[in-house]
Amino acid sequence: METRLTVPISGVDFESAKEQIKAASRAGAEMLELRTDYLQQLSVDLVRQLIGEAKGTAKLAIIVTCRDRRQGGAKKHPLQLRLDVLVAAAEMGAEFIDFEYENFLSTENREILERALSAGSKTRLIISDHNFKGRFENIGRLYRHIETLYPAAIVKLVYTAEHINDCFEAFDLLEKKRGEAIVFCMGAAGLISRIIAKKLGSFVTFAGIDEKSTTAPGQLTIKEFKDLYRYDDIQPDTQLYGVIGDPVGHSLSPHIHNGCFAAAGLNKLYLPLWVQGGADEFDKFMEHTLSRKYLGFRGFSITIPHKANALEYTKARFGFVEPLAEKIGAANTLIITADGELKAYNTDYAGALDAVASAMGIEWEDLKGLPTAVVGAGGVARAIVAGLADVGARVKIYNRTVKKAERLAAEFGCDFAGLDELKNLDAKLIINCTSIGMHPKIDATPVSAEYLKADMVVFDTVYNPAETLLLKQARKIGAKTISGLDMFVNQAAAQFRLFTGKPADTDLMRKTLYKIAHN
Ligand code: NAP
Repeated sequence: METRLTVPISGVDFESAKEQIKAASRAGAEMLELRTDYLQQLSVDLVRQLIGEAKGTAKLAIIVTCRDRRQGGAKKHPLQLRLDVLVAAAEMGAEFIDFEYENFLSTENREILERALSAGSKTRLIISDHNFKGRFENIGRLYRHIETLYPAAIVKLVYTAEHINDCFEAFDLLEKKRGEAIVFCMGAAGLISRIIAKKLGSFVTFAGIDEKSTTAPGQLTIKEFKDLYRYDDIQPDTQLYGVIGDPVGHSLSPHIHNGCFAAAGLNKLYLPLWVQGGADEFDKFMEHTLSRKYLGFRGFSITIPHKANALEYTKARFGFVEPLAEKIGAANTLIITADGELKAYNTDYAGALDAVASAMGIEWEDLKGLPTAVVGAGGVARAIVAGLADVGARVKIYNRTVKKAERLAAEFGCDFAGLDELKNLDAKLIINCTSIGMHPKIDATPVSAEYLKADMVVFDTVYNPAETLLLKQARKIGAKTISGLDMFVNQAAAQFRLFTGKPADTDLMRKTLYKIAHN
């Protein structure tokens, strides 16, 4: 059976619950969960009224829940009243009622519900267990026990993921389930379990109407599900991609890649993959994804702090490593082939060189001998210096920490200096690879305006804002400017090509970025 996108209705009285039902229905909910435990004046009559409203107005299937406070319920309602609510819901033809596993273990409670469910009722029982503190001790055993206890039940197991690596046992359970089951992880680290629940055939996945009305940590809104994460297009065989980093919450990559996947009609989905920690956690994440073919992971974008980890991991698995990525010591793209082989690339340097070549109307080779100043000696500087050195540009690296500039310069045969030397700048191409000028400190510039000349090409890798103070001042004196957005789009386009074998729609990528920036 298809997964149903279910919206919890958490109004505290009839009027607010009614408004939520209408809004959920308008937003595209496929099922409603009436969280009657949120009702301040909870009574069987009020629940009957609410069920009538949901069935009459929204015409959607409903789950009626009156959650025990110990299992995340909003208020402390007496057990007898909670049972009466569920019995009434069954009498009124609610499609599903949800009751807690630990309370279902009591024979008395079980008999009350079994009686309600056997009296010619079409209602089905969801037996649920929640662990807000972390993983269950043995989720497989718990699942089997509930299944044996009441074979007709839909088993719902929900726990908090403290790390993305905690999600994989939930995926395994969904993969192996025999009947219908709802399994996912709460918390920001569990986000992907809510999104790929549909691919893995979870009976429902929960969404909020808007950010204010979400009822559990990590819950997404219907709009995010549908507009950003391609909910309507997800199939069991959808291939998965994503950006691995820490943090990734504000990454623009899911927006641009999912937009392009959708426009190209590709059965692919791109996720934010929040991998906290260092090489150990990264390696574990990779092992989890590579050992589970059923998940269908086929590629990753890699960002801070895992670019070097991605390269090392690929080498350790004897995967293919693009020679320049090896030289840079960092991979920003991983591909998993159909046979499970791993390939590592770096599209950062190519994205930067493409941006420069296209703005100057030249080919990469024409950069040979060009006097170039790279400001910064971090990760991005390293990728760009490697690319420039590879095509034979004459590079001088300026950095606050001169030692770092010296080390980078020695590796790639460049000159180096401290930032104070920028006063003697005589390069034709200036590239800012520091974070100076980035939002929110947009009034800062790495190169004072008085050192810029009209015949220079000035490239700022910072893309937020699209036009930094450095670029504004360069444009004012007539210098040619290149925005970090161009590099960002180029490196994403190169990744898209690696992911799909097809050219990316760079106009669409730009439009998507523009839309986000102006929202
Ligand atoms: P990183 O490895 O942390 O390096 C940061 C660099 O900035 C270092 O050289 C550092 O100097 C310098 N720096 C930072 N704050 C400074 C300050 N207040 N004064 C002087 N120097 C300062 O970071 P990264 O990964 O290279 O990223 C750098 C920037 O590139 C990012 O902020 C981002 O805007 C941009 N970026 C653009 C793209 C794109 O596609 N357009 C992609 C990734 C990143 P020290 O060595 O002295 O610390």
